[in-house]
Amino acid sequence: MRLVLLGLPGAGKGTQAKRIAEKYHLTAISTGEMLREAAKEKDTSGLRVQEYMNKGELVPDEWINSLVKSRLQEKDVENGFVLDGYPRTLQQAKVLEAYLQSQNQNLDAVFFLDVSQDTLRHRLAQRGNLRSKEKQGNSQIEAKREKIRLDDKPEVIENRLHINKKLMESLIHFYKERNLLYVINGEGDFDNVFDNINEGLLSVNK
Ligand code: AMP
Repeated sequence: MRLVLLGLPGAGKGTQAKRIAEKYHLTAISTGEMLREAAKEKDTSGLRVQEYMNKGELVPDEWINSLVKSRLQEKDVENGFVLDGYPRTLQQAKVLEAYLQSQNQNLDAVFFLDVSQDTLRHRLAQRGNLRSKEKQGNSQIEAKREKIRLDDKPEVIENRLHINKKLMESLIHFYKERNLLYVINGEGDFDNVFDNINEGLLSVNK
């Protein structure tokens, strides 16, 4: 299966992508994680990636498209994938579609995790608070491992929500037209949301 998880920042894509991947033996691909790894290399492009991320802005389409295309060519993706955080723009969605077509492949389903703006703000702020507490507290090793996400700061949260909201609407439209879209209630706890996704997957597998 080839799946895409769509959702605004804080919708829970990362957690759900990992759980889906585990259950259905797929590879979870998170562009956010790939970029955070890239930013660790303190070379010129790593530093530029970090700059975009710190501001809550998207990195240019060409960068992310080529990163994802080469990731999709790796061996562990042969049995299918679940994409988390990509595509984020219409251009990325079109590039992904064209790439898969060139490989005689297509997406099986796109899940949009629908979560209200209020819940998203609350979740992102909590994530930011939790990590800065960890940083101040005794669990310094844990904090280092988790790596504080600078983009979970309040002013950056607003920017991320604002930038992604409009883009999300166009992606939803794009995938609805292709009959691939499943809208999943993303409020509630992770187990509930996972159940909702699994229910959707039942009809994908039919
Ligand atoms: P995420 O972990 O998915 O919230 O992504 C964190 C940050 O990585 C975003 O705020 C963007 O700066 C960058 N990013 C992740 N995925 C993409 C993408 N598909 N296109 C552009 N930028 C991205």
